Amino acid sequence: MTVYLDHNATTPVRPEVLDAMLPWLRGGYGNPNSTYSLGQRARAAVERAREQVAALLGAADASEVVFTSCGSESDALAIAGAAWQAHDETKGRRRKIITTKIEHDAVRVLAGQLRRRGLEVLEAGCRGDGTADAGELTAMLDDATAVVSVMHANNETGVFQPVAELAAAARAAGALVHTDAVQSLGKARIDAKVLGVDLLAVSGHKVNAPKGVGALYVRRGVRLAPLVTGHQEKNRRGGTENVASIVGFGLACELAGRELSAASAHALALRGRIEAGALRVRGARLNGHAELRLPNTAHFSFEGVDGHHLVVALDLEGICVSSGPACSSGASTPSHVLTAMGVPPALANGSIRVSVGWGSTDADVDRLLAVLPGAVERLRAARVPA
Ligand code: PLP
Repeated sequence: MTVYLDHNATTPVRPEVLDAMLPWLRGGYGNPNSTYSLGQRARAAVERAREQVAALLGAADASEVVFTSCGSESDALAIAGAAWQAHDETKGRRRKIITTKIEHDAVRVLAGQLRRRGLEVLEAGCRGDGTADAGELTAMLDDATAVVSVMHANNETGVFQPVAELAAAARAAGALVHTDAVQSLGKARIDAKVLGVDLLAVSGHKVNAPKGVGALYVRRGVRLAPLVTGHQEKNRRGGTENVASIVGFGLACELAGRELSAASAHALALRGRIEAGALRVRGARLNGHAELRLPNTAHFSFEGVDGHHLVVALDLEGICVSSGPACSSGASTPSHVLTAMGVPPALANGSIRVSVGWGSTDADVDRLLAVLPGAVERLRAARVPA
């Protein structure tokens, strides 16, 4: 039996989500852009899903939701699309992107690419508790700033970022504000209007919908240079819509919204047990702010242990956790997030992230806590002194 404690990497598709998708992969295969009824039924299903996603994001109107293929694409459409649009509209005067050192690679790698293409990119640092340095970021703002991108909650530590505060300052400087809320969706309340952002990225597979579908909230009136050209999604993202996955994503958002309070209470209870047990292990510490975190995420460092080895040791016992972001696991360099937080490299390399979610049980936690202390001690004993 697999004990899955890596819900920040991806999540299982809920059975009711799969059931809602299947008709659109069978008889309901019409193209939502076709005029005849087979197509129009698919169109209606896509538009219903748009409303379901919009409701979970706090959008004023469903038309503010653009469907994409994933969170990474949503981030790219937001940041590159807003940056090039502002650059072109101001004849190159607004050419600065401000972000932080703790963003997901979907943002960091894109920012590097935009820098190589001639835009200016600045990254604010973060504090020891994992929150971005709002003062440093605010001081970077000026009338050349096109876009500010700050994640809503960090994927490794789960720490919430001061998005609303930064959004107010950035918008006062005339910049557009994007937040990568991929990890927060379904785990914390998100309201684009309350946050005061112009753009907000989310992804289906983090909220018990399938992989291959995402969405970008685009505040009404905000214009973006599209990455994929075409007339779909009101000219903002070309490509025939992924109807079945969009339907699944919509239902997953509706369920997540309905269950948010109960799910976060459940996650907090499980996480509390995980933290109490893990921190009893000699030389263990918790990374990130003690409270201002996603309720489902705990990130630990264990002195004298390699995090990748610990992940493998737990995997041999049927337990899935991660030693960093899933997409970069296997890398031996310490996480850029922990480095930005000032965690020493040896300790950063001895880290694991445990994230609970839909379907996680007390029995999962019992199994983790039964195995973890022994696995840490065995790895320490096997370590060849440097
Ligand atoms: N942003 C954050 C914060 C993430 O955690 C992830 C995925 O882990 C992404 C973006 C990318 O999302 P996707 O896998 O849907 O491209």
